Amino acid sequence: MSLDGTYDDGNIFAKILRGDMPAARVFEDDHVFAFMDAFPQARGHVLVIPKHSRARNLLDEEPERLATLMQGVQRVTRAVRAALSPDGIVVTQFNGAPAGQTVYHLHVHVIPRWEGVALGRHGAGMADPEELKALAAQIAAQIS
Ligand code: 5GP
Repeated sequence: MSLDGTYDDGNIFAKILRGDMPAARVFEDDHVFAFMDAFPQARGHVLVIPKHSRARNLLDEEPERLATLMQGVQRVTRAVRAALSPDGIVVTQFNGAPAGQTVYHLHVHVIPRWEGVALGRHGAGMADPEELKALAAQIAAQIS
């Protein structure tokens, strides 16, 4: 899929938002939903998505919604730091397949990094759902 196209209500994140697919929830407010990436690139990899959006990528999004999205991203990033004490945290977002995008509901990756630990491959192995739930709870406990 290119940068252009129509929003598909059947995308995985839309299903998660509707409750049709399970997810390890970290945080939710009126604007954003944050949950563990099921194929994490690092321990504690969280995704933050706008809840009331049909934007497939950053370019599609209403500018006003970006403020609440980024506020949610910052809250989650701070909680990841407090919970897991990483040495660094990647905050990233992909637009279009050639850029690495695979799910077409706007989302931001929060990926903790540790010195000497290589970043996992994007979309590689699936994590144990129980482990993800435990990590989600650990991060959720640090949301302020
Ligand atoms: P993108 O490649 O579009 O930037 O990111 C999509 C992300 O969604 C990937 O990091 C991938 O691991 C994650 N992902 C794909 N399917 C699922 C799923 O069913 N549940 C969760 N929690 N994450 C998923």
